[in-house]
Amino acid sequence: MDIGSIKAQIDSEIGSISSPEALEELRVKYLGRRGLIAQLTGSIPNMPQVERAAFGQEVNALKNKITFLIDEKQKGITGKPAKPLLSSVDIGLPGISQEVGHLHPITKVTNEICAIFSQMGFAIVEGPEVETEYNNFTGLNIPLEHPSRDVFDTFYLKSGVQNSQLQTPNSKLLLRSHTSPVQIRVMKSRKPPLAVVVPGRVYRPDAVDASHSFMFHQIEGFVVDENIKFSDLKGTLEVIAKSVFGNKIKMRFRPHFFPFTEPSAEVDISCIICQGKGCSVCGQKGWLEILGSGMIHPRVFKNVGYKSGRYTGFAFGMGVERIAMLKYGIDDIRLFFENDLRFLKQF
Ligand SMILES: [Zn+2]
Repeated sequence: MDIGSIKAQIDSEIGSISSPEALEELRVKYLGRRGLIAQLTGSIPNMPQVERAAFGQEVNALKNKITFLIDEKQKGITGKPAKPLLSSVDIGLPGISQEVGHLHPITKVTNEICAIFSQMGFAIVEGPEVETEYNNFTGLNIPLEHPSRDVFDTFYLKSGVQNSQLQTPNSKLLLRSHTSPVQIRVMKSRKPPLAVVVPGRVYRPDAVDASHSFMFHQIEGFVVDENIKFSDLKGTLEVIAKSVFGNKIKMRFRPHFFPFTEPSAEVDISCIICQGKGCSVCGQKGWLEILGSGMIHPRVFKNVGYKSGRYTGFAFGMGVERIAMLKYGIDDIRLFFENDLRFLKQF
């Protein structure tokens, strides 16, 4: 199609346009990337050298004319120029608010507890969720016959899975059943004094119900130095419990057994619901168990290569879901993992 016939065609076509959609179609037909003007421009390289300049000028003039005609038509159809002006925006309208997300309650409680430990000088260290059987059990003085090492109580990974980061290629791999293997990792790689807190996800093949999940979160802490005593453990845990649950709570230590600590104790706080009088949350006992603790077993120090008798230390571990459930009055652990916004928005 030559310049003259395009000129004639646009003059006749533009007259019959009456909607913005038809006008846009027309614009694409003439000015689009593959439109008639582009076709004319594309033919220039094939023309004799002497004709190119004049032809180019003609095409440009035609392009400007078509642009002008379409702009004028646009004003005629909409009563507005092609570009909207600021005055068409009603600045008195309320703004469009964005939904803002927030941290998951488990993350919030984890951060809160880790922040308290940080203030006391603890370093926050994380470890891998895939662990060696050695770090998860043997190094922590948990003997082969201990029931927690049974395949029904731990997720073992297929044998033959190797990972060069896990350093002990002969040990079976598993999903860690607690955060305590990080004790072994830290003690092997650093020298006392140590004050470390370890938040993280752990796994156990438990049937899921209101108080059990196959995956949950723990916070582990330990302190190792010369002359660390049980009273240091008690003082540290009291600061944590009172920071999380308030200054009015009472604490008690009940003798218990853990393979990696000796002596060991479970720690209870007075029930925050009934203040110790007895209610359904505390099973009428007036006390709530919140964590396990003890003095690190000398065999654990031996396993990480510390000189016998030189260091003492304490360790403790708590379930983050348990703490969050008590703190917020949540009665079903499954709520944390169902991602129901009606639940999550309450925190
Ligand atoms: Zn109670």
